[in-house]
Amino acid sequence: MVPRVIYGRGSFDDLCDILAPKRVPGAPFIFLVDAVFAGRESLVERIPLSGRDTIIFINTADEPKTKQVDALRDRLCGEFGTVSGIIGIGGGSIMDLAKAVGLMMTHEGSSAQYQGWDLLKRPGVYRVGIPTLSGTGAEVSRTAVLTGPERKLGLNSDYTTFDQVVLDPALTKGAPNNQRFFTGMDCYIHCIESLNGTYLNAFSKSYGEKAQELCEYVFLHKDTWDDDSDEALMMASWHGGMSIAYSQVGVAHAVSYGMAFVLGTHHGIGNAIVFNYLEEYYPEGVRKFHDMIAKWGIDLPRHVCAACTDKQFDTMISVSLGMAPLWENALGKDWQHIMTAKKLRQLYEQM
Ligand code: NAD
Ligand code: ZN
Repeated sequence: MVPRVIYGRGSFDDLCDILAPKRVPGAPFIFLVDAVFAGRESLVERIPLSGRDTIIFINTADEPKTKQVDALRDRLCGEFGTVSGIIGIGGGSIMDLAKAVGLMMTHEGSSAQYQGWDLLKRPGVYRVGIPTLSGTGAEVSRTAVLTGPERKLGLNSDYTTFDQVVLDPALTKGAPNNQRFFTGMDCYIHCIESLNGTYLNAFSKSYGEKAQELCEYVFLHKDTWDDDSDEALMMASWHGGMSIAYSQVGVAHAVSYGMAFVLGTHHGIGNAIVFNYLEEYYPEGVRKFHDMIAKWGIDLPRHVCAACTDKQFDTMISVSLGMAPLWENALGKDWQHIMTAKKLRQLYEQM
């Protein structure tokens, strides 16, 4: 679990005090900041820089890749030798990038070698996560999802979690409506998949139920988006992440990982595209999802796999079926007899 967290509107301004005791003399703090904030002085000017501290703006048009993580690690080691810490400011992409770069500062080789479960052997450098978009739960989870040469899969380990998280709901204000909806739906889908999974236990259930209640509050019961919505969704994201920390996600994630690997579909929108067709697995959750889509006037892309070749379908299917823990959580130990390559292909063709 994340050992230290502060929450509150304006808490971003506590960052200077938070970082001061963690500074190693001569070693800078590195701020990985989503490039969307590059022109926004209201945020950038409040980053407490000192000495050789450096801001690196990251373009998140593509979700984080193992190659990108390796290149950043090599650059920081070459330029500074060591760093006091890595601070990520952005959505789930930046959360994962910051977690992964901080880990790779203390690990040899490529981050692709560590895609999987419990392959990292030691802590990374000090890392702080500051989310600017709510839903993925990446600020709290024990994984850093990366696209590598062979698969899209996280660096899952007890060392992956941030050392400190700053939850300031004011930072999520102004996120584009569609993006906010799709990343919010990622949280909602985490809850449905966790609460309906075979891995569920009392720990996951308590967090999952709270997160689902908060998602339904902002997306079903409220009619307008306001500060209260930003606050509620930030806590939904946290609870949703906590819920899957002790259980797993399910069918929507397993299917959308395959799609993301082949078509580059982003996580939130990819899950929504898939979830739309999963009545068979999550009837009640999908029904409410349709209500939310209608309420917020969201246009969901359709026929995204229409132009796929057989080879592309085969890759999607193999990446997806490779996510064994997700399928086992969703369908039980006998999942391989339930979700066959043929059935999965039919599902992709529908989308
Ligand atoms: P994102 O981080 O990819 O950002 C999406 C878009 O929103 C970008 O264009 C970004 O510039 C913009 N943005 C972010 N904050 C903004 C703000 N405040 N104002 C305006 N624009 C803003 O989106 P996401 O959905 O948060 O994250 C998706 C990533 O999270 C994927 O890479 C996915 O694999 C990962 N993920 C990780 C976990 C985990 O547990 N580690 C869980 C789910 C998803
Ligand atoms: Zn997700």
